Amino acid sequence: MDISVVVPLYNEAESLPELEAWIDRVMKNNGFSYEILFINDGSTDDSWDVIKRLSQKNPSVRGVCFRRNYGKSPALNTGFARAKGDVVITMDADLQDSPDEIPELYRMITEEGYDLVSGWKQKRYDPLSKTIPTKLFNATARKVSGIHNLHDFNCGLKAYRSKVVKHIEVYGDMHRYIPYLAKNAGFSKIGEKVVHHQARKYGSSKFGLDRFVNGYLDLATLW
Ligand code: UDP
Ligand code: MG
Repeated sequence: MDISVVVPLYNEAESLPELEAWIDRVMKNNGFSYEILFINDGSTDDSWDVIKRLSQKNPSVRGVCFRRNYGKSPALNTGFARAKGDVVITMDADLQDSPDEIPELYRMITEEGYDLVSGWKQKRYDPLSKTIPTKLFNATARKVSGIHNLHDFNCGLKAYRSKVVKHIEVYGDMHRYIPYLAKNAGFSKIGEKVVHHQARKYGSSKFGLDRFVNGYLDLATLW
């Protein structure tokens, strides 16, 4: 299988049908064999019903359902363990990340030899309360990790050579530092691609300022 798309989600029922249709279109247009792994992180809305319906319609759709809300990192970790594709792509469920980026991310892994390619939301459609702390976070993350070429460590859109996701463990809130985990696991070819970003279409952000402060404190601990 060429590509696994891992999508962690918490209360994103409205976005899921559009996301599935968009990913399916991109995969078919490019002739990729693929699977979508929707990891339902204890949603209290209709997300799980929507996933079941989508998987009946499209055999490439698989779902995992957590009994409660464990967090984005455990959701990604579960998707990584189950992914069967040669290249694994992670993407948020809220349509802020564009599936149109998938072919180039795939090419960078398979032809340019990258172990990990992280998206860079150079033009970001989020409130200032998110974009300003993020700049501070990234400056610190670059220094702590020694990965100086990344602008956007926490971008939800990333591509990995399969081997990478099978050799890292993403727990707690570690999804913010996956490039650092990959580097520590011995994967050194880490690159970046500027990606399109959109404002959230449905629902609301699950990561407010409080979660950011926690993330920053985590970084201080790693240091
Ligand atoms: N998410 C999750 N578990 C959580 C919080 C968020 O699986 O406890 C998912 C969420 O549904 C989305 C992705 O993680 O698919 C990123 O979250 P969000 O869009 O709220 O973050 P933001 O883009 O505002 O940083
Ligand atoms: Mg989002």
